[in-house]
Amino acid sequence: MSELAVVPDLKKLIRAVPDFPKPGILFYDITTLLKDKTGLKIVIDALADHYRNSAIDVVLGIEARGFIFGPALAYALGTGFVPVRKPKKLPAEIVSVEYQLEYGFDSLEIHKDAIEKGQRVLIVDDVLATGGTAAAVAKLVEKLGGRVAGLGFVLELLFLNGRAKLAGHDVYSLLQFEK
Ligand code: AMP
Repeated sequence: MSELAVVPDLKKLIRAVPDFPKPGILFYDITTLLKDKTGLKIVIDALADHYRNSAIDVVLGIEARGFIFGPALAYALGTGFVPVRKPKKLPAEIVSVEYQLEYGFDSLEIHKDAIEKGQRVLIVDDVLATGGTAAAVAKLVEKLGGRVAGLGFVLELLFLNGRAKLAGHDVYSLLQFEK
């Protein structure tokens, strides 16, 4: 089945929930896609097809929903998986990055030995929204001497223009939402 033929059906599997987690936010809920055996398979297969010839050395997933898609994609590509975690979760020596939220700052951490210099890293998350999180993770990869081979998302919220924060990187999303 071609990617184009399945995209409209996949979009229907994503549930948009208004006013979550706070008023005014339309939350794109992927749990309805995940529980669908065909939907889940199509998503992982389509992402794997997209990156199969990209010489990916390691797939990196962003906590928490990048931990759902990342390992499945790593398995399909035959690579290892590296988690990027919220603060104070990783037990060994870490490198961290701070990034700006709507109000205040947040940070993410990775094990210092998680990526080898020159490795081609694919960063994976469920949603590309403002791009702030993904841009911070790309910096983390580069801090460790890794090369960001791509940033892959199940869905992209086009109206937030997250790609602007990821300029210079290869960005791919399977599904795009206009509003
Ligand atoms: P970002 O604004 O791109 O830094 O988004 C940070 C994270 O929040 C992403 O990894 C998404 O998983 C999640 N996220 C942001 N906005 C939404 C939304 N409208 N619906 C679902 N998830 C979202």
